Amino acid sequence: MIVMKFGGSSVANAERIRHVAEIVKTQIDRKPVLVLSAMGDTTDHLLEAADEALKKGTVSINRIEELHKKTIKELKISAAAQKEIMPLLEELRSLLVGISLIRELTVRTKDYLVSFGERLSVRIAASYFNTAGIKAGAFDSWKVGFISDSNFTSAELIKECWQLIPEKIIPLTEKGILPVVTGFIAQDVNSNITTLGRGGSDLSATMIAAACNAEEAQVWKDVDGILTADPRLVKTARPVDTVTYEEAAEMAYFGAQVLHPRAMQPCMKTGTPVLVKNSYNPGAPGTRIIGSLGKKTGPVRAITSRKNATLVDLVSTRMLGQSGFLEGVFSTFARHQLSVDMVATSEVSISLTLDAARDLSSLKKDLSQIASVDIKTGKAIVTIIGDVRRSSEILVRAFKICQLLGVTVQMVSQGASKVNISFIVDDNEAGDVVKALHDDFFPAPSIGKDSASGGRA
Ligand code: ASP
Ligand code: MG
Repeated sequence: MIVMKFGGSSVANAERIRHVAEIVKTQIDRKPVLVLSAMGDTTDHLLEAADEALKKGTVSINRIEELHKKTIKELKISAAAQKEIMPLLEELRSLLVGISLIRELTVRTKDYLVSFGERLSVRIAASYFNTAGIKAGAFDSWKVGFISDSNFTSAELIKECWQLIPEKIIPLTEKGILPVVTGFIAQDVNSNITTLGRGGSDLSATMIAAACNAEEAQVWKDVDGILTADPRLVKTARPVDTVTYEEAAEMAYFGAQVLHPRAMQPCMKTGTPVLVKNSYNPGAPGTRIIGSLGKKTGPVRAITSRKNATLVDLVSTRMLGQSGFLEGVFSTFARHQLSVDMVATSEVSISLTLDAARDLSSLKKDLSQIASVDIKTGKAIVTIIGDVRRSSEILVRAFKICQLLGVTVQMVSQGASKVNISFIVDDNEAGDVVKALHDDFFPAPSIGKDSASGGRA
């Protein structure tokens, strides 16, 4: 058995859905399970519609209706659509009317609302597959064991899923049915619809693959795999052949938004390989994510950057030989509900970075009680993902480059995860630093250059 997940742009219209059917057919002998996202940008459109209903009291689902109705027509599945797709569009409209009238949108309602995207796409795709000679069934994920906690908008699957999912899925594939399952959504124990966070259908797919002990989870995107850098920034960025789960997770956190950050967790537990493939270019090998890499791999897998970080420098001689000082510092951040990204400490100073671009004056006031505080905004975190056992080599090369560019590195931290080295530079320096690092660690091949298509998620 394998799991194949197709993201929004891979099921964006009738033509793309036909193309998915072709890809599935080539692997039908491997007993695939499909996980789908909402069509195209439907999730965004649903959120925008909710916003309008809430703020302006208007109901506008034209874009969503048009896309889905047009697709149904082009795929010639109108009969099936009458039964199970049109009623969903009606239900969606009623919900938006409700929101527009009461002018209230709780997180619970929000999850119920965005769930329509995936519920529509699986029904359309499964109906079409049946007309195209693939025996398929559409499933809302809770029908195949996806139960989560009630943490709406970023719910976690409960541990019983590990048992429930295979119990439901495996009999289907054994019967020769292709289950087409909604990604991204689940239900809590009270049958409220929840979502696993934006981009969460990756996690739905890796969860099915891990729980069912599948051969592999294939995540079909619109890029040739995980890239060595952001292609908008670095023209010569190219797909990485193989990375470890840790590296892939780290890349997701640090700006290379190819996979959902939590998506690695289930397959990491079971050692199930995850393959990132391009549905627009199925012949490309893609990126394989596995437990550990062979000896021959280079020191660096990818280089990412994240702008708009804030650097907080604390200096206090009271730190010297004291216990509990750090606790005071971190509890201050916790009180202000600020999440700290990077930390570096010395005997008398601490530097940390925050993602927040909000007003930090009250934080500064509180921290000033225990240390002298300097807060600088407009910083960028440059992250090198790779084999930190080779950190000396990586650091020498990276800092040499910064020196040549005349860039001052303002803080360094080597992640305990053993795969990331991050440092801080000014926002306006980050682009050049990333480009130069990429040129050094991934020199452009002179002939037969790999091409990487960037673009939609
Ligand atoms: N449709 C959802 C989103 O756009 C989930 C996903 O695509 O993974 O975030
Ligand atoms: Mg999407």
